[in-house]
Order: sequence, then C-alpha cells, then structure tokens
Amino acid sequence: MSVFSAVELAPRDPILGLNEAYAADRRETKVNLGVGVYTDDQGRIPLLRSVAEAEQARVAARAARGYLPIDGIAAYDAAVQKLLFGADSALVAEGRAVTVQALGGTGALKLGADFLKRLDPSAHVAISDPSWENHRALFEAAGFAVDTYRYYDAASHGVDFAGMLADLRGYAAGTVVVLHACCHNPTGVDLDDAQWAQVVDVLRERQLVPFLDIAYQGFGESIEADATAVRRVAASGLPFLVASSFSKSFSLYGERVGALTLVTASSDEAKRVLSQVKRVIRTNYSNPPTHGGTVVATVLNDATLRAQWESELGEMRDRIRAMRDGLVERLKANGAQGDFEFVRQQRGMFSYSGLTSAQVDRLRDEFGIYAVSTGRICVAALRSSNLDMVAKAIATVSA
Ligand code: PLP
Repeated sequence: MSVFSAVELAPRDPILGLNEAYAADRRETKVNLGVGVYTDDQGRIPLLRSVAEAEQARVAARAARGYLPIDGIAAYDAAVQKLLFGADSALVAEGRAVTVQALGGTGALKLGADFLKRLDPSAHVAISDPSWENHRALFEAAGFAVDTYRYYDAASHGVDFAGMLADLRGYAAGTVVVLHACCHNPTGVDLDDAQWAQVVDVLRERQLVPFLDIAYQGFGESIEADATAVRRVAASGLPFLVASSFSKSFSLYGERVGALTLVTASSDEAKRVLSQVKRVIRTNYSNPPTHGGTVVATVLNDATLRAQWESELGEMRDRIRAMRDGLVERLKANGAQGDFEFVRQQRGMFSYSGLTSAQVDRLRDEFGIYAVSTGRICVAALRSSNLDMVAKAIATVSA
C-alpha cells in the first residue's frame, strides 16, 4: 500500500496544457497565441541586450554564489520601489515601504497571501471577473475564500465600471482586493485615471486592503504611466501590497524575478512587517536565487543599461501595438464579421478577442491556431508573417 495510492490525477493546467497540444501539432503553419509570452517578429523569446550585458559583466566578475539575505538584494529591492513609486516618493523617504525579492510575480502574490492569511484568517479575497487564471487558485491555496467583482463588459468590450464599484462597496472591511495595475490579464482592458481615483475612494471608505498586481509595467504606455494606479493608491494613505513581476519586462521568464512590496503606516510598522514576511520566506524557500535578481538590479541601477532597457521595453511595446493595428486592418480586409477596433484600444500582451469557445476550437482544429477557450489571444506572440493567416482564420470562424 503506497502512501500515494489514493492520489487523484489533477486536472491539466488549462493554459500550459495548450503548450503541450501545440508542441504535438505537426502543421508547419501552427501558431501559439495561448501562452503569455512575448516573442519578437521571428517568433523568438528575446534575450534583451541590456540583460546580456549585465550577465556578461557578472560572468566576467566571477561572482561567488553565497546565500542572499532572506529579503534579497538590497539594491534590487530599492530599485523596485523607485519603479513603483517614482524617484522622489515621500512614503519611501519615510521608510513606510518594505520590498522583498520574490520568485516572480506568482511568488510575490503567494508571499503576500500567506502573510495576509496570518493577519486575518477570516478575510475574503476579491479578484476581477475575469482575472489571471492563477489568482483564484493561488489565494484559495493560501486558505482564502475568493469572490469576484464585476469587471469586463463583453457587450462594450470595456469595463463594467458601475458594477465594479457596486461590488467593491458591498465588501466587508478588511477584504483583500486584487487589482491589475495595468495591462489587465486576460482582457487587455484597463481603468482610466479618473476611474482609478473613484476606486481608491471606495477602497478607503470601505477600509479594503488593496493588493496590486503589476506584471506588465512598461507594456502599456510607459514605465511611469503604467504606475498610475500604484501611485494613486499610494497617495490615499491606505496600507497596501504590490506584487511586481519582471518576467515580461526583462524577458526573464525562467529566472523568476519578482518582488513583494508592502506599504505600511509608519517606519516602525514597516520594520515589524518586514520581520514577519522574512519568516514566511525563511520557512518556504529560505532566500531567493542570485542570478535574475542581480541582473535586474544591475540594469536598473546603471544609467547606460537602464536607458538601453527602457529602449528595448519600448521596442516590445511598439511591436505589440503594430501587431494590434495589423490584426485589426487584416481582419477588415478579410471581411471579418463585426468591429474589431477595440483590439487597438486594449493594453498589454492580451486581447479578449470576443471569440467563443467553439470558434477557438475551430481555430485549433482547422488552422492550427491555439488560443485560450475564453477567447483570450496573446497579441504579443503574433508575427508580421502570420498576421494575414490568423486574420483569415478568425474571419472564417466568425463568419
Ligand atoms: N500576475 C499576472 C496578472 C500575470 O499575468 C502573470 C503572468 O502571466 C503573473 C502575475 C505571474 O508572473 P510571473 O511569471 O512573474 O510569476
């Protein structure tokens, strides 16, 4: 009798499962628009030049690989705070923010979730409807009951803002509200600045706990503009958490580079909070890995590499925009049913295309184009060379 004999087979991850199906597809023209990875116009995941330079410098220095401090590289944590709050942030100067290096955005969310669970075991967590597919599972795994607030309005391809505010107003004080700071995954639909201001008012009135998830800073408008939501919440005086991911913005998916930042009421509170978050880390994985964090810290803290990175980030952003424009134009040219102009307005790597699950199945079966059954497509994985073919296929299945 094995200790594992009663273990049931878990369902496949819906998105990563798509990768396996894609890999097994023999068609040469196959296209993977399922997974959230940016590729260049040749279909490759780029190694940024700024990253390669920082890596070369690290190799040349023959750096030792001792343990990092539990909260990671100090210069990394400080650079994360500058990205989030700007170079002259009062709350940073007051010592109210603490940042720990984390294993990607996912690791940051999980650290935050585990810490919050210890503070208020009965609190609920609220995520947008829809949200990144791992949010619910991650917070449930941390022991929380997870609710959803209205977000996407399929009819307008926009935000159901009245519904969102009404749902936020209905939550009990202490509810943790997960908010996509920019480039909402999966819809590509963001709040504007005036809407953020209203959301922040409700968060403050209802004493909710904002947990911002920023996985695409720089993919929307710019590093600064994409931090609008974070800075609005920061200006509210509320305590809050932020999970940062650099997987996309540094094209360092496999290095697991992220950070958890907690904004507290005072520097004394910050010290106590940091000491407890370090316990969560220590009992999970002890301390973070050296390579990715060193590379990101080197790039962010060196003026030349930083400028190079910003320009490379801009190239990625521009290419995604060009793919959005190209797709909309080719859909029109190929006589696709309906108005796809909304694809141009969406931000970040994803688009809720409006395709039904049956249409997504047809795209896969008839054309070898892989998308998520919700109709989410990764526009950052389109290429000039397959835009026309993808547009024709979408036009066919939506006819
Ligand atoms: N949060 C959101 C909204 C995401 O889209 C993603 C990645 O897809 C993550 C977090 C996780 O990022 P990471 O790969 O750095 O763990």
